Amino acid sequence: MAVNLPGPGKAQRMRLRVEVSGVVQGVGFRPYIYREAVKRSLKGWVLNNRQGVVMEVEGSALSVDQFLAELKQCSLRLARINDIRCTVIDTAGDHKFIIRESGSEGDGVPRIPADVAVCPSCREDILSPHNRRHQYPFTNCTDCGPRYTIIQGVPYDRKETTMSGFAMCEECEEEYHNPLNRRFHAQPNACPQCGPQAALCDSKGETVPGHWREKTLALLKAGHILAVKGLGGFHLACDAKNPEAVQTLRYRKGRPARPFAVMCRDEALVRRYCSVDEKEAELLDSPEAPIVVLRRRPGSILPKGLAPKAGTLGVMLPYTPLHHLLFDQDLEMLVMTSGNETGLPLAKDTQEALRDLGTVADFFLTHNRPIHKRCDDSLLQVIQKVPHLLRRSRGYVPASIPVPVPNNSAQVFAAGGDLKNSFCFLKDGHAYPGPHIGDLAYAETRRVHLEAAGELAEMLQVEPTIVAFDCHPGYHSAALAAKKPGTHETVWHHHAHLASCMGENYLTGPVIGVICDGTGYGRDGTIWGGEVLSGDYLDFEREFHLEPVPLPGGEAAVRHPWRMAVSWLWQSTGEEGVTLAKALFADKEREIDLLSTMLKRKVNSPMASSCGRLYDAAAALLGICRENTYDGQAPMELAEAALGHERGTYPFTIEGKTISCSTLMHSLAEDFLRGKDAGMIAAAFEATIVEMFAAAVERVRQKNGLDRVVLSGGSFQNPYLLTALRTRLQAAGFQVYTQRQVPANDGGLALGQALVAAWRRTV
Ligand SMILES: [Zn+2]
Ligand SMILES: [Zn+2]
Repeated sequence: MAVNLPGPGKAQRMRLRVEVSGVVQGVGFRPYIYREAVKRSLKGWVLNNRQGVVMEVEGSALSVDQFLAELKQCSLRLARINDIRCTVIDTAGDHKFIIRESGSEGDGVPRIPADVAVCPSCREDILSPHNRRHQYPFTNCTDCGPRYTIIQGVPYDRKETTMSGFAMCEECEEEYHNPLNRRFHAQPNACPQCGPQAALCDSKGETVPGHWREKTLALLKAGHILAVKGLGGFHLACDAKNPEAVQTLRYRKGRPARPFAVMCRDEALVRRYCSVDEKEAELLDSPEAPIVVLRRRPGSILPKGLAPKAGTLGVMLPYTPLHHLLFDQDLEMLVMTSGNETGLPLAKDTQEALRDLGTVADFFLTHNRPIHKRCDDSLLQVIQKVPHLLRRSRGYVPASIPVPVPNNSAQVFAAGGDLKNSFCFLKDGHAYPGPHIGDLAYAETRRVHLEAAGELAEMLQVEPTIVAFDCHPGYHSAALAAKKPGTHETVWHHHAHLASCMGENYLTGPVIGVICDGTGYGRDGTIWGGEVLSGDYLDFEREFHLEPVPLPGGEAAVRHPWRMAVSWLWQSTGEEGVTLAKALFADKEREIDLLSTMLKRKVNSPMASSCGRLYDAAAALLGICRENTYDGQAPMELAEAALGHERGTYPFTIEGKTISCSTLMHSLAEDFLRGKDAGMIAAAFEATIVEMFAAAVERVRQKNGLDRVVLSGGSFQNPYLLTALRTRLQAAGFQVYTQRQVPANDGGLALGQALVAAWRRTV
């Protein structure tokens, strides 16, 4: 930051031109400048321009000095200043300070702000008994409130939001037009007199008599399950400290084991149950307010049902005024899980909620501010002080990510994958990832995918001429995208992962990619997922891969990790392996016979070199997890069991392009049957995986001299795998890059697809 002021006498009048770049548009920056200037009797003007914000301030040198000191610190919550440049110019003798409207702003992409968590000042307003917004659940200001989810059109203005139906009362109107007020031009500004209202109803839609807040708190305390309308959709909520309520919610939602996210009343409470480092605390309280995956304190007492077998807990803080009002002295922590039926999109209006959640929720806390666009909570975890997004949605969408593209690159739409679907637009060197959509196996989700993509394109004013999608012939995302007009570009699944990681790290030129995930369609028609690739945006080479093994029963093998274990044992030693499998899974003798027949005859057993499935098999072999009731369950539970154990390694070999795993899996089973501790074996298993990939990467370097490595794919959500492989490679002199801004899982696929298409079609 270059602020160099010549030093005239402090009382002398001077005029300064100040240019500020960074995140300074759409964040209330001009009113902030106005307030700070007027406070110091400075004259002049402020204006948005293409680079950011420019202003001229005139007054006593002392006042200008103080003004600059404030600017350097910038107390504005949503602004991020990169640079301040000052030039002393001739005084002009203005009589006042004004905010000038600018013709064209920014880079030609309309600014659509993301939703912002309630700010400290608004929090104070709703908690102060004498404030006119006391306990008003829709309080907001220029620093906070709904944005993306209520915007219907551009430019961002109240009449283009779902607040257009609410006419501001006199007082709100006054705030809105007063540049000295922090609600100056706060588009969703509202108060109890003129704004939206909350309402509580039962599962038939009948209003529950009494005050909504008192009733809601009483119902939650009594163990009821409530559907709560939030910013981007409904949550299902219950008292997180009530084991019966948590169990009931699991039962009704048909979700036996997948961890629930919780919302805690305040940060002190989070610290009582979880360890929170500085970075994690900052993120919990950030304007984006994501769910942060935290390590639970050993011995902290919470219902086991919240996150069975997980040593972590997904935690967020209240991010709307309504959320704050869901807590009191006795109610400290709520389960807040997405309000959707399995596979279906988030319910966003009361009718949808009553229809989709009627069998899960006892009561519905709703309100009459319409949600225009769905947006799930974002999820992230901090690994070695660096945040990694696992789901990029509310608070982040539709912010852009700068990525390297060729000159004159066309605009691109990328469809993403079928699971954890999220699409992405590319325009002028910026990627615009869409919100988390979900599983495209469901027609309703596919409808939302198309709708959300159409709307975002319109708002960002992108007109893609290139459409990118996965090569998988059976992918819904591909089928939908193939119907769109434009030049079609198909991209291999693991190539997209590699490109995604390159892109967010602003890399060009060839890299080595270690891509580990569950299942993706490979170039040879088999299932890939434990890959060492080399390549760039244009193309890739498959250098090494995990040993392929049959998935007996295809999809069924994904749900039942013990089947993968049988497959590995059969592959390692044939009939002897089958005997070993029967010793491990004594209750499944008949099924194992059936399975081995299937394997011998190669019936319905597609080959897969997947890292996720290898973890599945190991978890089942070690008795850690035999069934996957949610995506990634077995690998997560294995990693959890391995934590804290010393990490030995098993021997392995690399033959040709194949990293052999049969011996490893056989040794695992033998050690376990000999009575060795499962956690210790799991720890050694993971350490061996790290050694395998490190060895393969080293061979690629020896062959082609590359020394930059990107790590991507869902398996790298496992903090051990990510940090251990990175440390190992860095020690060997590699530069290692990981995914942070978009998920390493398939949620980050679209970014990679978009970049591959852009580079292929421009060069
Ligand atoms: Zn606020
Ligand atoms: Zn009002």
